[in-house]
Amino acid sequence: MALINENLLKISRKYIFPIIEERRDKLKATLSKDEFVDLGVGDVSYPITKTIVEGLKDVADEIGTNVIGYGPYQGYAFLRNAIIESDYKELPISSDEIFVSEGINSDICGIQELFSIEAKVGIVDPAYPVYYDLNVMAGREHIVRLPLTADNGFMPEVPSEPLDIVYITNPSNPTGVAMTRESLEMWVKWAQKNKCIIFYDAAYAGFIEGDGLPRSIYEIKGADEVVVEFKSFSKSSGFTGVRLGYCVIPHKIAIFDKSGKEHKLNPLWMTRQSTKTNGASYPIQKAGLAALSKEGQEENKAVLKDYMKGTRMIVDALTSMGFTTYGGVDCPYIWWKVPSGDSWEWFEKLIEECHIISVPGEAFGVCGEGYVRLSGFVTEDEAQRAVRNLSRLEAYCAH
Ligand code: PLP
Repeated sequence: MALINENLLKISRKYIFPIIEERRDKLKATLSKDEFVDLGVGDVSYPITKTIVEGLKDVADEIGTNVIGYGPYQGYAFLRNAIIESDYKELPISSDEIFVSEGINSDICGIQELFSIEAKVGIVDPAYPVYYDLNVMAGREHIVRLPLTADNGFMPEVPSEPLDIVYITNPSNPTGVAMTRESLEMWVKWAQKNKCIIFYDAAYAGFIEGDGLPRSIYEIKGADEVVVEFKSFSKSSGFTGVRLGYCVIPHKIAIFDKSGKEHKLNPLWMTRQSTKTNGASYPIQKAGLAALSKEGQEENKAVLKDYMKGTRMIVDALTSMGFTTYGGVDCPYIWWKVPSGDSWEWFEKLIEECHIISVPGEAFGVCGEGYVRLSGFVTEDEAQRAVRNLSRLEAYCAH
């Protein structure tokens, strides 16, 4: 008899995004396109840009005439070098510390396999729900929540107990807040002192604009000893359906066996990758190269600017009605403090009264209760529609 991994039965709730998608599809079926707005899961609204499309057309011709075959497990050097050039030029990171993949999700779920099941884990709360669920599925029991609240500026405070692994997202999904340099420095120092490894999810780093805010964790001294950075082309280049990402595992990072002997993480990840994956496809790595070209970067910057403009319009609409919002400055997510009741109630109210799909804050963790997340990954038309429909909430506003 084949027995189940009992840890799967500990996932008590349905994964939130399918629930939201179901509600969105129902709205879509009953309303015309210009009546409803999807501010839910945070998928992109603009297609990939012209330079990337041209890159894909070129590679289609190339693979039609040349045999490509299996690629290097770590990703092609052309892409890893381009990543260094665009994101890590002045930083202590080299191309053999970059591992290309099909996106953050598979990397962040896979890397925990290199760590003991007894590892004590810290996870920011609210957070991308995957971090918690993947650790429960793996069988970890010691999981500590690191609250993100209005009182701490939505920046996690270092815990009083030592932890082995900590998950941080910067800028945060769902709060949309970017951490300050001081806060990141405090975390790196703490991780060095506690021999803790930080999994630093930088899926939205491309949106950071604020003065002095780090674009990569490796801007912080010592981070290359304790932090794995996860990056994605999903939101920065519109690749959610194209699939490309990478993680950075600096040579200095080590983990330990029970005798205290150290083992470098970079070659351990190489062993895992060369066993469990044959990597991201050649055509998509070429598309990534096109995205990192000068023209590709300029086009993508313009798209990200449009998302932030739409985000701003929604923030302004809510604040002008007297509501309180956070985030929405260095990341296109708006963390809206609901004026009364709970987050699921407002999720329903937004559907019924405004024909808007959102995500209830509670879906991101217990500290998310009292908030609703609105995604600013919208076109200008969608942002205008959102503003129009949100005005129906005038009756609930604070003034
Ligand atoms: N990490 C965070 C914080 C996200 O919000 C998302 C997607 O929304 C992901 C990772 C997934 O990234 P990818 O598309 O590269 O798998």
